[in-house]
Amino acid sequence: MSKPLSDHDKRKQISVRGIAGVENVAELKVAFNRHFHFTLVKDRNVANKRDYYFALANTVRDHLVGRWIRTQQYYYEKDPKRVYYISLEFYMGRTLQNTMVNLALENACDEAIYQLGLDMEELEDMEEDAGLGNGGLGCLAACFLDSMASLGLAAYGYGIRYEFGIFNQKIVNGWQVEEADDWLRYGNPWEKARPESMRPVKFYGRTEHTPDGVKWVDTQVVLALPYDTPIPGYRNNIVNTMRLWAARPHGVFFPFSTVNVGGYIQAVLDRNLCENISRVLYPNDNFFENKELRLKQEYFVVAATLQDIVRRFKASMFWLQRDCPHRLRRVAIQLNDTHPAMAIPELMRVLLDEEKLGWDKAWDVCVRTCAYTNHTVLPEALERWPIDLFHHLLPRHLEIIFEINRRFMETTTACALMSLIEEGGCKKVNMAHLCIVGSHAVNGVARIHSEILIATLFKDFYELDPHKFQNKTNGITPRRWLVMCNPGLAEVIAEKIGEEFIRDLDQLKRLLKFVNDDAFIRDIAKVKQENKLKFAVHLEEHYKVKINPQSMFDFQVKRIHEYKRQLLNCLHMITYYNRIKKEPNKHWTPRTIMVGGKAAPGYHTAKMIIRLITAIGEVVNHDPVVGDRLKVIFLENYRVTLAEKAIPSADLSEQISTAGTEASGTGNMKFMLNGALTIGTMDGANVEMYYNRIPELKQAMDQIAGGFFSPKQPDLFKELVDLLMHHDRFKVFADYEAYIKCQDKVNQLYKNPKEWTKMVIHNIAGCGKFSSDRTIAQYAREIWGIEPSLEKIPTSEGNGKSFLKALE
Ligand SMILES: *Cc1c(COP(=O)(O)O)cnc(C)c1O
Repeated sequence: MSKPLSDHDKRKQISVRGIAGVENVAELKVAFNRHFHFTLVKDRNVANKRDYYFALANTVRDHLVGRWIRTQQYYYEKDPKRVYYISLEFYMGRTLQNTMVNLALENACDEAIYQLGLDMEELEDMEEDAGLGNGGLGCLAACFLDSMASLGLAAYGYGIRYEFGIFNQKIVNGWQVEEADDWLRYGNPWEKARPESMRPVKFYGRTEHTPDGVKWVDTQVVLALPYDTPIPGYRNNIVNTMRLWAARPHGVFFPFSTVNVGGYIQAVLDRNLCENISRVLYPNDNFFENKELRLKQEYFVVAATLQDIVRRFKASMFWLQRDCPHRLRRVAIQLNDTHPAMAIPELMRVLLDEEKLGWDKAWDVCVRTCAYTNHTVLPEALERWPIDLFHHLLPRHLEIIFEINRRFMETTTACALMSLIEEGGCKKVNMAHLCIVGSHAVNGVARIHSEILIATLFKDFYELDPHKFQNKTNGITPRRWLVMCNPGLAEVIAEKIGEEFIRDLDQLKRLLKFVNDDAFIRDIAKVKQENKLKFAVHLEEHYKVKINPQSMFDFQVKRIHEYKRQLLNCLHMITYYNRIKKEPNKHWTPRTIMVGGKAAPGYHTAKMIIRLITAIGEVVNHDPVVGDRLKVIFLENYRVTLAEKAIPSADLSEQISTAGTEASGTGNMKFMLNGALTIGTMDGANVEMYYNRIPELKQAMDQIAGGFFSPKQPDLFKELVDLLMHHDRFKVFADYEAYIKCQDKVNQLYKNPKEWTKMVIHNIAGCGKFSSDRTIAQYAREIWGIEPSLEKIPTSEGNGKSFLKALE
């Protein structure tokens, strides 16, 4: 019998991870040792794993630098249309492995690290997540950056460099506790500060209307310091830029005669208060928080970014060609939800007050340039800023918004409900209305969501201008969400259909030919089983929970929210538990139900839902009658890195939001691509996936209400019971019966592994449309007016002996 392969040997055999040529490996080792010595300034006696991670990160980063500089030179020379994706969130996760995948360096680095006596996965685990997002919206922005680079678009991501990202979630006595995410503590090897490119951003003050235009005066100035992160395309030599702004104090001049020493010290200390603007990500998903600091963040990113956009445009050759008809169509700005909506009045302010354009010309440029993506129809998530706050913080912008509104309402067909200014107790600016009026394209993020938008929320706007409204169904990048997180599955697929599917995910449909191929079915099932074992080991090592790797792995991982209905899942857990207890000798399909996700710190009901899940786990997991046929696990601190470990191990994906509430979902796509079956409602992108009075409910509710899951505090879940029984906006009971029946079918199917795996293969083969490459190609053609390209860009000119060539 041959020795079982180590993880290292297994990974080596996988061709999608690149070729580990002897020369490459030797060069990498030299570079690693050089960084270890000169950059980290360490020797092996005093080094820890983090030092080795940093040495490796710097080694890999070296391979980006030439391509990054060359790509930006190339854009400067060719002067293509630029795309600016502005977002308050970029949920990037880790960068090291993604860079190695996209540069085809993975096997070579793995071999070099192995030869140095180190363990690649251990080093990778030292990297902090860049958790600059809450959930789907931030993940989408990250996937889009990867796809835009992979499709050769001259694109930039613009956002805020939060010093603290999404909080770390601890579970203490069953409750969520938040801990600040100090992700920059040890430094970030992937970013490059550009202090030479700081931009001033103004706040407060008042306006002066003078004969030569409007002046915004008596303002407070904050500087925006850019940090650039390279975004490599998939094996095409392109490296785009994500630029995140940090707030820094503006150098204030103190006239010495008027400032005493105490005043001077206080003035210097107060300088740093303005850095609070980029201090922390607001931890709300699908919820609008009416706070001045948040409005400051939204304007800060937009004001700094527009200065970059205008400067870059003026450096382009089109700037000088005043009679060229395309001159003013060289820039596309995509607004990721209304969070960066201030780009519209800010662009108007720059064109009117600084560039001295007339209103009509300025408005034409603004509308042609901007496009808006809507992400939700939930009323509590829609941004409506009080006029008073606006007037105080951004007086000039409020004037411009009033003028936009005045002109818009003058069009004979606009009705009062379409006003950008909402009347009522306190007047508010409706940011979605501002975005619609100021953009040439408005899109939803799944077919049903876009249909709901034009039928309800934006009906009047649709009737006024139907051509503005589009759909762009979300997608995920197959690099991070397949090749990187599930190399075993990627390799089994590549053995059948080659590696092109990584660039062109539609090719997955060629797998349909193999649905009856027994060896292929076995390979797919084997990879799943290996992934399940690996995740079980991870849970045991990190959380000391033992799970049965033969059981069905049933996941619901996403932000905790009433509309996502983790409570419906709870009712199923309880029902299944009661059935096992009632007939303990029946052959029950063993299940491990795992739920993970963060609750916004101020969202009381979401925190109670977490407590109910942990309470159910406490009862179910220790019941000897149940044994390992049912376990309920709350996965602590769900984030991108945990998603990458968990999703490849999933058998079943829970997508059970109330129909009409989840705009798209992208978690659903990650699971499908990784070989899980979906149990879901007809909501969001689920609709596009084509997957194939009640005593037990009363029993479950009585148990929650009667303290069965909280014996020490029988009325702990009283409010949740009251919510479900009397004022549930999200209709959990309405779907209970159908959901339980469907779960029964899932159990039956799971007893036939071959049929299950065939369904998995059908599912994977149908994943093509959920690549973010498809999504981005549609944005490019149908909104931005540019053509994507799979070409590699030249890495050198002339004799081909440039520095870059040497790195190939
Ligand atoms: C993909 C992803 C999400 C979005 O999940 P949904 O199920 O679409 O809400 C949220 N958080 C993380 C960490 C993710 O990776």
